Amino acid sequence: MELFLPRACGGCGAPGASLCTACQRVWRAPPKLARLNVALPVWTLAPYDGPHRNVLIAMKERGRADLADFVAAAVGASISYLAAQGEVEHDITLVPAPTRAVSQRRRGGDPVERVCRKTRLSTFPCLRISSSTPDSVGQSAQQRRLNMRVELLRQPQTPVLIIDDVVTTGATISASANVLRAAGVQVRGALTYCQA
Ligand SMILES: [Zn+2]
Repeated sequence: MELFLPRACGGCGAPGASLCTACQRVWRAPPKLARLNVALPVWTLAPYDGPHRNVLIAMKERGRADLADFVAAAVGASISYLAAQGEVEHDITLVPAPTRAVSQRRRGGDPVERVCRKTRLSTFPCLRISSSTPDSVGQSAQQRRLNMRVELLRQPQTPVLIIDDVVTTGATISASANVLRAAGVQVRGALTYCQA
């Protein structure tokens, strides 16, 4: 199929590779602390913009699984960077941020979990957004935080880093950290590809 389907860069649309060298370079920036009003460090690679935004949309909405390798490489490099800074363990366990079961089914699997697994770090999906959580569209940050319900499905036995694609208010990450910490899990922080 490769021979017949022309590929376009998932970041900028240039013909040729899955991700052109210019977009790969943009994706390789080290993580920075996001300014969010949450009780744990949240690191992020970039604003939700340009090649970052395009790659996430291509993975999520257009099923471009070929991009997951590049995103996983960027996530893996970011975790090595954080480990070198003493922020997380080198063999930290990754917990994909929770999704609603219904959106996961529609997309044919969780793209964040797929990326986590491709980093080859141990990946422990254990969170789910409760079906009693109302849709966040049109809600203020405060309302989202109050309404967000996350369930712990099984308990990690090691320190964890929560991974998500885009952080907006931090409500999902905050609720995830709370439910993990309440169960005695050490949450080192969260790493997201983008901040909206
Ligand atoms: Zn590109």
